[in-house]
Parts: sequence; C-alpha cells; structure tokens
Amino acid sequence: MSTSSTTTRLAGDVLAALAADATPEEFGAIPVPTEYRAVALHAADIDTIGALPRGEKRPSMAMHVDEIPTPELAPDEVLIATMASSMNFNTVWSAIFEPVPTFAFLRRYAKVRGGGQRHAQEFHVVGSDACGVVLRTGSAVTRWRPGDRVLVHPNDVALEDPQGHDDAILDPDQRVWGFESNYGGLGELCLAKAHQLMPKPAHLSWEEAASMPLVNCTAYRMLVGRQGARMQQGDIVLIWGAAGGLGGFALQYVLNGGGYPICVVSSPEKAQVCREAGAEWVIDRAEHGLTFWEDGRQNPKEAQRFGKLIREQTGGRDPDIVFEHPGRDTFGASVYVARRGGKVVTCASTTGFTHEFDNRYLWMFTKTIVGSHLANYAEAWAANELVRAGRTQPILSRSYPLEEAGRAADDVFGNVHLGKVGVLCIAPDEGMGVTNDELRREHIAGIRRYASPVG
Ligand code: NAP
Repeated sequence: MSTSSTTTRLAGDVLAALAADATPEEFGAIPVPTEYRAVALHAADIDTIGALPRGEKRPSMAMHVDEIPTPELAPDEVLIATMASSMNFNTVWSAIFEPVPTFAFLRRYAKVRGGGQRHAQEFHVVGSDACGVVLRTGSAVTRWRPGDRVLVHPNDVALEDPQGHDDAILDPDQRVWGFESNYGGLGELCLAKAHQLMPKPAHLSWEEAASMPLVNCTAYRMLVGRQGARMQQGDIVLIWGAAGGLGGFALQYVLNGGGYPICVVSSPEKAQVCREAGAEWVIDRAEHGLTFWEDGRQNPKEAQRFGKLIREQTGGRDPDIVFEHPGRDTFGASVYVARRGGKVVTCASTTGFTHEFDNRYLWMFTKTIVGSHLANYAEAWAANELVRAGRTQPILSRSYPLEEAGRAADDVFGNVHLGKVGVLCIAPDEGMGVTNDELRREHIAGIRRYASPVG
C-alpha cells in the first residue's frame, strides 16, 4: 500500500533537500517549525477511553493527530525529521492506557533535571522506532550532523550513575523512548539523545529501516547478548509468535547462529512465512487447539501434549532455549518444555504479567529463567550492523500513513498483522530512501518476504 500524507512545509523542505542531495549546512538551514504534526495521546482520555473494558476499546480511539509544540533541544540531543516509524506493542499498551497510563512515566521524567520537565505534558507523542534525517544537533553532540540518515535506538539513558556503565540497561535512569518519554517516533519530528542514533541501512527504504530497531535489538539481546540466553550453535530454540515482531527476528538469529528454531504460530499463513524464512519445524497452535488454561487453572496435560508435539518434530529433543513473551498464557508450558538445564528467556507478558508455573520443573531440572529488556547501545549497534551487511532482513508486511497510525495499532492489538507494521511520517510513499541498490538487489527476496498485497 502507498497512501500519501498531506505535505506540510517541513515535509516539503526535507524531501526537496533529500532530492537535491543537500549539504549538512543546507539541512541545518531548513526552518524548524514551532509546531509539528504527530500522533499523540491525551491525558484527558485516561478516565474515559482508558476506563472502558478491554473488549470495548481499541488503540485507535485514543490516537489523535495533533499539532505539537516543537520542544527545545538539550545539549546532548538531536532533532530528527522523521521519515518513517513503526508500530510496537508498547504503543498499543500506551493507547489503551494499560497496565498504567504512560503519563505517569512522563511525570517521573519531569523530575530529572536538565530537560526532563519538557516531557510532562497533557499530550504524549508515542512511538519507539524512527528512521529519518538529522535536522539539528545540540551543542555537545560531536558524532552526528545535519543531513545524516539515521535510525533511533529506543534505549534512552542518562549514564550519570556507575551502574549503567557496565550495561546501560542497568542504568537507574533507563527508559524506553517514545513510551516512557515524549516526542517519540510517530510524528514529522522527533527528539532523541545522540547516543540513540545508528546509521540507516542504505539498502532499505525509510519504512523498512524504521521497522527494525526495537524488536531487532530486543531479540538480539535475548538470544545473542551476554546478558541473554547466550545461544550456542546446535541449540534448539522454541520461538513463540515466530511470525510476529520479536519472533521474526529471533528466527533469523537462531538460523544465523547455527541453531534449530521451532516456530509456534497461529495460522497456516504464518507457518508458511516461517518455512520460507528457513524454519523446518513449525507448530500451528490454532490447528492443534493448544490451550494451557481451563476454567482459570493450568492444565498440565496440555503442556505435556505440547512437549510431545515438540519432540515429534525434533526427533525427541527438548528446547535448549524458550523465547518467551506471551506471558501468562504460555509461561507454565515454556518452563515445562525447556530441556533439563535449559533456559526460558523472557521480555514481556502480553497475555498477563502474573505468571504461574510448576516450580518442580524448574528446580529439579535446574532450568533458568532469564529476564531481558530492550538492549544497550552496543547490542543495538551490533544488531544494526548485521542489517547493514544484509545478514538480517526486515520483516515488514505493510505500512500506513501517519494519519492512519491508529489502524496499525489496531492490527497489532488484534493480532491480525504479520511481522511488523510500518508508519510513513514525512515519507509520502513506500520504497523511498534506498541509496544502495546493489545490496538491495542481492537480498531482495529476504527484504520482501513478509510484504503482503495491501489495499
Ligand atoms: P507481535 O508482533 O504482536 O507478536 C507477538 C506474537 O505473540 C503474535 O504474533 C502471536 O503469534 C503471539 N501470541 C499472541 N498471543 C499469544 C498467546 N495467547 N499464546 C501464544 N502466542 C501468542 O508483538 P511483538 O512486537 O513481538 O511483542 C511481543 C510482546 O513483547 C509485547 O507484549 C511487547 O510489548 C513486548 N516487547 C517487549 C520488549 C522489551 O524490551 N521488554 C521489546 C519488544 C516487545 P501467533 O498468534 O502467531 O501465535
């Protein structure tokens, strides 16, 4: 699909500068408007839309397209003309105001001296992925300059505390950009710290590139990073939601790292895309009617049946690693099916964060549960380098214009999407921004694997 957005003055200036291959000085001279177009949540909706029962609300109900006052730039920040963004599940949570309204995070940010108070507003510009062009740099920024084509890595840290200097995810001032901070990716401008920037992969379009940073770096840390499950060659890795955002990257890391993925999905279409990506073992949980809970209790027989289905595929082996994120619905089964000494690595609880599992299977079989969250800058950079080398591919299935970002969120909320869903911000059409055609041609089948015919 390619639906054009209304072109604003800012969009026109940026597109003209890109077409003219403008110099850094020329990009730096593009006038920054006092207000910009963005998708924002309103604090006023918390007690109305937020109070509705889950079945009666959709994220789109709370996602307004507004004119937002452009924030001041702090010395360590950059202002980016956002060409494209993508939909992440955290924006779904923000827009249904669950489990807590994200305005609470913004109020907490306001207590941070040196600019935190800019974030606490009655609006919240959400979005934790962005690909765009640097327009302005703060006085302390040395590495980046106007005109640089960049991705935004969503780990926003202060790094004033020693804890963050071994692993930035441990920084007490760590937050998820565009979720726990304002002025995120779903707008024509966004505000990020210089230490969030990474070079845009030249062979990808704006929206393909924008669809990757958050889920790519999270899956990388969970499986490859030294704080994660540290997958070894030959490991069997069970991947829940293997055709979703995180799972689509987990599948690639397992295959790239010499492991054997077992993909769990819920439709023949999703099973097919996993097979096309290189997976041999796929379990369609819908086809097998897997339901681990009955009348509010877990049914251990169902976890055993799941274990048998896995062994039928693997020739009797149990997973060395279970890649977890559905949470309450699946966690008990994940602990059960991991092999003796195996690991369950988790970064989320989409279906509920109060997990229950039979602890006997954990302690007697010396299994480990590994908690993981986003990734530090070094991990995100390493993951992006694999993309830039053509060794990890985007999993983008479709994109919506900024005005219809709510539809992207509804798709993810309803689990009717495949891979990732993109959002065009300044980019008027899909497919723009590619500057390395040769590398693109080499990897085009992988790049387009998840793309579906769209209306
Ligand atoms: P996604 O694109 O919606 O994919 C999630 C997949 O989970 C779906 O494709 C679905 O696959 C599967 N699923 C949904 N309900 C399920 C259930 N009841 N049982 C088994 N599988 C189920 O979302 P995502 O981007 O991968 O994110 C997944 C979760 O991780 C979200 O909660 C998100 O907020 C979180 N997350 C956390 C971090 C972090 O750093 N902590 C980073 C990224 C994402 P099938 O229906 O095909 O089985």
